[in-house]
Amino acid sequence: MRLANLKPGQKGVVTKILGHGAFRKRVMEMGFVRGREVAMILNAPLQDPIKYKLMDYEVSLRRAEAELIEIETLENWQKQAEQIREYNTGIHDPALEENFRKDKIINIALIGNPNCGKTSLFNIVSGAHEHVGNYAGVTVGAKAGTLKYKGYKFNVVDLPGTYSLSAYSPEELYVMRYLHQETPDVIVNVVVASNLERNLYLTTELIDMNRSMVIDLNMYDELEKSNAKLDYQQLGKMLGVPVVPTKASTGWNVNKLLDTIIDVYEMRNKDVRHIHVKMRKNIEEGVSAIKDLIKNDATISQHFSPRYLAIKLLEGDPEADAILREAATYKNIKEAREKAVVNIEKELSEDVNSAIAADKYGFIQGALAETMEGNVLHEQKTTKLIDAIVTSKIFGFPIFLLVMLLMFWATFQIGSYPMEWIESLVSWISNIIGEYMPDGPFKDLIIDGIIGGVGGVIVFLPNILILYFFISLMEDTGYMARVAFIMDKLMHKMGLHGKSFIPLVMGFGCNVPAIMSTRIIESKSSRLITILINPFISCSARIPIYVLLVGCFFPKHGGLVFFGLYLLGIIIAVLTAKLMRRFWLKTDETPFVMELPPYRIPTGKAIMRGMWSKAQQYLNKMGGIILVASIIIWALSYFPQRSFDEVPQEYFTSVVSDIPADEMSNLSEDHLQELVTNQYQQENSILGHVGKFVEPVVRPMEYGWKTTVALLAGAAAKEVVVSTIGVLYVGEDDADLISERLTTPSTLTGRAPFDSAKALSFMVFVLLYFPCIATLTAIARETENWKYALFSALYNTSLAWVLAFITYRIALLF
Ligand code: GDP
Ligand code: MG
Repeated sequence: MRLANLKPGQKGVVTKILGHGAFRKRVMEMGFVRGREVAMILNAPLQDPIKYKLMDYEVSLRRAEAELIEIETLENWQKQAEQIREYNTGIHDPALEENFRKDKIINIALIGNPNCGKTSLFNIVSGAHEHVGNYAGVTVGAKAGTLKYKGYKFNVVDLPGTYSLSAYSPEELYVMRYLHQETPDVIVNVVVASNLERNLYLTTELIDMNRSMVIDLNMYDELEKSNAKLDYQQLGKMLGVPVVPTKASTGWNVNKLLDTIIDVYEMRNKDVRHIHVKMRKNIEEGVSAIKDLIKNDATISQHFSPRYLAIKLLEGDPEADAILREAATYKNIKEAREKAVVNIEKELSEDVNSAIAADKYGFIQGALAETMEGNVLHEQKTTKLIDAIVTSKIFGFPIFLLVMLLMFWATFQIGSYPMEWIESLVSWISNIIGEYMPDGPFKDLIIDGIIGGVGGVIVFLPNILILYFFISLMEDTGYMARVAFIMDKLMHKMGLHGKSFIPLVMGFGCNVPAIMSTRIIESKSSRLITILINPFISCSARIPIYVLLVGCFFPKHGGLVFFGLYLLGIIIAVLTAKLMRRFWLKTDETPFVMELPPYRIPTGKAIMRGMWSKAQQYLNKMGGIILVASIIIWALSYFPQRSFDEVPQEYFTSVVSDIPADEMSNLSEDHLQELVTNQYQQENSILGHVGKFVEPVVRPMEYGWKTTVALLAGAAAKEVVVSTIGVLYVGEDDADLISERLTTPSTLTGRAPFDSAKALSFMVFVLLYFPCIATLTAIARETENWKYALFSALYNTSLAWVLAFITYRIALLF
């Protein structure tokens, strides 16, 4: 609770002071220190300022200031103290003490450039498994985790990467707002040791902010490998912020970092002091004039230091402007700013922003010149060498295609071995149950519903893991960023740019995170197009369908068909992007500013962790949505049960007339009755009616009602297409694998449910038709407009229909 929330007459006890350094110092000098009792006396007429009683004297605070003082109500405090006392005599819950000692909770935020290792650090610290990748924009939104260490509880937040704290890209704005609203106790500024010059730019802005901070000199291994030497302790002293070297990918020295955070939090670190990142005289004069106005206006929030707000306002930052607009003296502040801008631009003949940036870089160069010997370029030699080949005009593209081909080949071919093992396991289990369980609906539920559905999908786990292995390898080594680079030209032809390519490759894994990762794209229209074409990129949930049908009908050319489908998805994506650029979202280009991070050898641990979390996700999906969907589908197709007496005579005769003569001759009367009854029952189940109602829509492709139902069910998740097929195509013998059930001709009709033409057309349909619910939700959320999700569903489905139809008709010719 915050001091500002106290009601008149209520009492509280101070637990923590938030906000920037100068503010904290001043408030503490006034007597607001931990454990001190405060009573609220009254509000001024407009609720501001508020009068408090503190140690027998009265002080008045602005509401904005009282917002930054954390308290506990007196009753709670006393109650807790009482309980702690009891606890200390050996009775109570240990969680209490921690809760009581609010000051023992340290809220830290990880802030740094994209790709500096924040998420790696976050994972080490909090034991989480967040996605790590060697390119910008991997973390979107904030992730929170906790850690207990030396009696402290750390609440850690992993923020998206940002190069500076302006309000231009969604990431930057996000980080700004986070710092504004959440006021973490200690900021951990993660910087890349081998690329300090650029990384420290953000640091200078954080220094302006005057918050408690520690610099994490990450990727220290890269610095060690180069012939450069950095006196980081000296650098820390110069910046007034302690610097701790770490290697987040291995966890080296992370404890030292935590110790330093505690020291800074407890205000006992000797390096900590507030410095000014000095700029040229004209700029400083401007900043100073604005800062004084801000300082003297008590209506301005104390979340940011006046100097920081002044500099940001001078830079024309919209967010700073929005914060100051509330102020009583906004007009004066604005005037001071305009005057300063005119003056600076006249005197320095340079626009304000570049003047400020130049001075900050000057400051950084100065600081590094004094603390660093040699340069770091050495270690980038290997990177340069690899890049010379991998991004070259001649080899770049073929290498990329080879990598892709290798990826799909491995997914399909290598994956088929473990797949067979799991397949035999599933059919073994199904056999055992078939043999030992008494007949009845429950047995049917287990065998046809659960094993048929979930078992039919679980076998594809190895394929999906292999695919993810390749994707994380590309991400972690830094190859993904090169791919964006290689693709830049091609992407420009479709009116997008290289950056849009990364979400597309990620889409091979899952479209949902891929759509979220489009936040790295600055241009609004490019981002929208990238989002809308993403569902055409075949995600791993569609793999089961391909593996199943390709395995059944194209065993010889498996890899090729597989690759062909992915290619078709890409082509459709490209054409759609072109159409959209042409007719809908005419140009808005932003130049390509993607940097190429040095190649890094990924740790096996990171890759394994990534794969394990994917496996977990997949298994969760099995136990969740796929299990539920399978049971529902099974139930809807199982009830109502029928006996042979209920089968109408006309139905029976019409089925019998279709039976091929040779089948008929060795069919016993009982067996015939059973088969006809089963078919009649399924067709007249609830699901049968639904399927038959919708079936006319896809009749030109002759999918039949069962497959139609599978398509509908695929809206929940694409894996459900296969599990539904598994449930609905009940074999005539329980142990049959789905693949056999799809290819064995039915006794009654003499035809198999699928043939190669139908299979091919069906795969095309599944590739292109409406995205799953999760993807649609992601589209709606990221575009902040559900109409785009609706568009996606309609457009994709129509396209799927047309192409599946064409595919079918062409395939029939062969
Ligand atoms: P973020 O964008 O800041 O969240 O960065 P990530 O945590 O995703 O890491 C970016 C890349 O740097 C990944 O490939 C990591 O494996 C790698 N990485 C992280 N920390 C270190 C380190 O200390 N040394 C080296 N060599 N690589 C690291
Ligand atoms: Mg990250």
